[in-house]
Amino acid sequence: MFEYAPAPESRDVVDLSPSYGLFINGEFVDGSGPSFKTVNPATEETLAEIATASSDDVDRAVQAARKAFGVWSALPGAERAKYLFRIARIIQERARELAVLESLDNGKPIRESRDVDLPLVAAHFFYYAGWADKLEHAGFGTKPLGVAGQVIPWNFPLLMLAWKIAPALACGNTVVLKPAETTPLTALLFADICRQADLPPGVVNIVTGAGETGAAVVAHPDVDKVAFTGSTEVGRIIARSVAGTGKKLTLELGGKAANIVFDDAAIDQAVEGVVNGIFFNQGHVCCAGSRLLVQESVQEELLAALKRRLGTLRLGDPLDKNTDIGAINSAEQLAKIRRLSDLGEAEGAERWSPACELPAKGFWFPPTLFTGVAQSHSIAREEIFGPVLSVLTFRTPAEAVEKANNTPYGLSAGVWTEKGSRILWMADRLRAGVVWANTFNKFDPASPFGGYKESGYGREGGRHGLGAYLDV
Ligand code: NDP
Repeated sequence: MFEYAPAPESRDVVDLSPSYGLFINGEFVDGSGPSFKTVNPATEETLAEIATASSDDVDRAVQAARKAFGVWSALPGAERAKYLFRIARIIQERARELAVLESLDNGKPIRESRDVDLPLVAAHFFYYAGWADKLEHAGFGTKPLGVAGQVIPWNFPLLMLAWKIAPALACGNTVVLKPAETTPLTALLFADICRQADLPPGVVNIVTGAGETGAAVVAHPDVDKVAFTGSTEVGRIIARSVAGTGKKLTLELGGKAANIVFDDAAIDQAVEGVVNGIFFNQGHVCCAGSRLLVQESVQEELLAALKRRLGTLRLGDPLDKNTDIGAINSAEQLAKIRRLSDLGEAEGAERWSPACELPAKGFWFPPTLFTGVAQSHSIAREEIFGPVLSVLTFRTPAEAVEKANNTPYGLSAGVWTEKGSRILWMADRLRAGVVWANTFNKFDPASPFGGYKESGYGREGGRHGLGAYLDV
């Protein structure tokens, strides 16, 4: 492996405060719950103290959003678009600051936050800004729902915020958003951007805290729409809490996607796609290609190439521009990845990782693959949400479909083959919201995203994403 000189991104572009309050009605205010710390998962250093919103604070935020709804929903779409375009442009102007902050708080490599997350965040605001004055052409009516309560996870903190806030605002709703406990900082910087854009107070409110704060947002009687991304377990709790209330609900939950490689695929390209599918963002991706299904006749060749490639991945400082694999987001998530990987071995699969030195401080897990995996193994069924790939084999296309669909989830799938007809045949039969062909983890704001079965319901992104925020 080549030796690389360090290429650190500067932290100086980020101006961190020692503590942060809640963003309610256009102001930063104290929270009444006990504050908590957010840490840099690569170093375990405390970044800031964060306020906890109690249910009274959530109530204030919902009231502010309700009051602002009158003003915001009455604006012509073209006027709302002006604000959204302005927010999109400020995000571009402050992209470096946002990317560094995201990597500090989340642990993801700067190369990804800078080149994937931030461009997509800006693109989402630009895209939905464009819809704001054309809602009548989308086919869902033009009547907003009211106040949206939105709860998001820690794997793509700012991108998930954009997926939630941009369509909600374009359609004329106002929002109360709760970021994840371990990654609140970019949402709070976004609050500052809302002020910079002169967004009317109360249109966007950010309440920080743990699961209880999220539960208070979801349960608030004056919330008209709930949007959640996170684990299937919490998704179930939320679905129960919302049932019978008349609130509209979209859920983006877990996944256990199959990345299927046929023997006629371009092997080197497929290897890149498999690596991107599971090692992008440390595998903290709901649509990660965590199950590799490889046709038996090319198994050996593919695995040899894959292992060679994994040996070149660079793990370490997320702020180094040469880093491919950053830190695991939290001690809890690391414990979960370790538990499931140990279970993989105990149940009989064979574990392999390249030689890879882990930093002494922080939360780290080496890129790992398991061979000899049976469909009944826990590592083939449960979402690990880490840099761990389970390899299974198949002989015929029908067997590939059968195995790919043998999961309670249905968020995404990948197909690698030279034959266009086979791609279409497979896509018809795979029970997954997104099927990528000869690529993986490709996102575009114009393309709807969402799941089947335990991966949730509703679609985000594209024209379809507007339907979730309008009274259809
Ligand atoms: P959660 O589903 O618990 O967290 C997602 C968001 O929901 C967070 O903001 C969380 O707050 C909040 N929340 C937690 N409990 C409730 C509740 N009862 N009502 C309303 N909101 C709530 O995911 P975790 O972060 O705990 O991760 C657990 C596992 O879930 C991971 O190991 C991974 O397997 C999976 N996961 C899957 C994701 C996906 O996109 N498929 C995303 C994230 C996790 P807080 O952060 O304070 O807990």
